Amino acid sequence: MTKTILILGGTAEARSLADQAVAQWPDARVVTSLAGRTKSPRLPRGEIETGGFGGADGLADYLVRENVDVLIDATHPFAAEISRNAERAAAGAGVPRLVLARPPWSFAGNTNVRHVPDLPGVHDALASAVRIFLAIGRQEVAAFAPGTGKFFLLRFIDPPASPPNFAGCRVLTGRPESVAEETNLLQSHRIDTVVAKNGGSDASRAKIDAALALGLSVILIDPPPPPMPPRAGTVDAAINWIAKNI
Ligand code: NAP
Repeated sequence: MTKTILILGGTAEARSLADQAVAQWPDARVVTSLAGRTKSPRLPRGEIETGGFGGADGLADYLVRENVDVLIDATHPFAAEISRNAERAAAGAGVPRLVLARPPWSFAGNTNVRHVPDLPGVHDALASAVRIFLAIGRQEVAAFAPGTGKFFLLRFIDPPASPPNFAGCRVLTGRPESVAEETNLLQSHRIDTVVAKNGGSDASRAKIDAALALGLSVILIDPPPPPMPPRAGTVDAAINWIAKNI
């Protein structure tokens, strides 16, 4: 019978895992599920589902209905709800589940990096910042009220439905760039502080490396606790786990 691998995606690792799984198991169904928030996501090989399942129960129903053999939660480290749903649904449906999670960035000893646990922590840490690159995605940016007397540079993959309207604010659309391009962006906007989620991805790290090389301040929002094991830290380790569990 055809084997079915369901990957909860939205990260570069999820894409790479799907591509490798299609190559390794050409007779299997490799399905990647995306939340559907990005208008033109980079798509992996295999089938795509989009738009969510309707909570843990909806995901459990999907696992049973589609005869899913293994579930890999390769979602963004900050996407805690879908990870909780995956854990519950897999347990309920009796489907082996693996978390593919990259470690957060570590800048141990770098005094320009300040870690905060959450968004309110960012507000406190911004007291002495003047020109800020706020790179935290669309969903939480509304928490930053206008009229603070600070300049905010915002960058989104897709423009928000209602663009933020801070007193001093510039909105850019686009994906993270190379260190050289991020350096140029920070310098041309005279940024003194970069705020980012510590999501651990290689692509998003360029702006942090650029900021630190320029001697700027960096505020990193640390991720929530990782989902329950089993966990793999690399795509190769996830492929090995699938091979043993499929
Ligand atoms: P979430 O809060 O964990 O999930 C909310 C709901 O979205 C889930 O219950 C599920 O809906 C749906 N969903 C999420 N991921 C899905 C997937 N791969 N496949 C199918 N459905 C999915 O996740 P989020 O709202 O996407 O993100 C939460 C936080 O993570 C935010 O802070 C966001 O900025 C951050 N995040 C950042 C990035 C990034 O920077 N690239 C990417 C993703 C998330 P149903 O209950 O209907 O199944």
